[in-house]
Amino acid sequence: MFYKKHISFLIICLIFSLLLSGCRDTVDYSSSPVIPGGEDLTHSEVSSADASSDLTVSEPEQSSQASSETPLKPVNPPASSTAPHLHAFKITRVESTCTKEGYTLYECSCGETKIDDYVPKKGHTFGEWNTVTEPTATAVGLKERTCTVCGEKETEQIPIVYAYSALSKEVFELVNNERANAGLPALAYRQDLQICVNIRAEEIMEKFDHIRPNNTECFTVLPENNIDEYSAAGENIAEGQETAKAVIESWMNSEGHKENILSEKYTGIAIGVAEKDGRYYWVQIFIG
Ligand SMILES: [Zn+2]
Ligand SMILES: [Zn+2]
Repeated sequence: MFYKKHISFLIICLIFSLLLSGCRDTVDYSSSPVIPGGEDLTHSEVSSADASSDLTVSEPEQSSQASSETPLKPVNPPASSTAPHLHAFKITRVESTCTKEGYTLYECSCGETKIDDYVPKKGHTFGEWNTVTEPTATAVGLKERTCTVCGEKETEQIPIVYAYSALSKEVFELVNNERANAGLPALAYRQDLQICVNIRAEEIMEKFDHIRPNNTECFTVLPENNIDEYSAAGENIAEGQETAKAVIESWMNSEGHKENILSEKYTGIAIGVAEKDGRYYWVQIFIG
């Protein structure tokens, strides 16, 4: 009898457990039958457990969704501070200046900005050149002009005075005549060398030599005046001849000087002439 009772109790328990099918293993079945409405309670517990397990599954989706949204951020400003709205732009007109272009700037309080209506920069409106320092035969001068709009200053060198230019030009032409007679190409007049020959013409009045008054070689005058790129250089000097023709004759009658005038190593020349108490001092510098 007692055994039969046991069996029937087990059967009742089995029926209960069948009714609870679909519930999770975690639920404590043993207590369910004795609590009124325990079935519902355990179900609600389970469903909440279900919800939380669903959440853990869906989490990676959410984060992947968030990352796929990230590239869109620059287009749509963060929603935290601003809801979608029609931009209310503050409009600022920036006028063009001498050195900067003009434009219209639109700014919304949300941070959205845009720029358009570009106008090119005006460029400076310079006034007349004013001489700051006058050039001499041996030093360049300096001139300056000012923008009448912004005050920006611009400076430029004034070339040295081309001293005795008529005589220098005559010597230059006679040199090229001699070269043509010898079947050689003409030399170019090197304006950038003029300062060097003018300096040397003044120096040979003081010391008639290829060694300068400061005891350096005559060619040190070249790098001193930013002439650094040459493969060959030569110097002829003369004193006392009264015409260009006379000085060329003197040089052509002297082997070393003639060699310089008729050298194939040179491509350019400049001629300096200085005068003191009616006496002329002549300098040729050749360069190649
Ligand atoms: Zn806005
Ligand atoms: Zn300006």
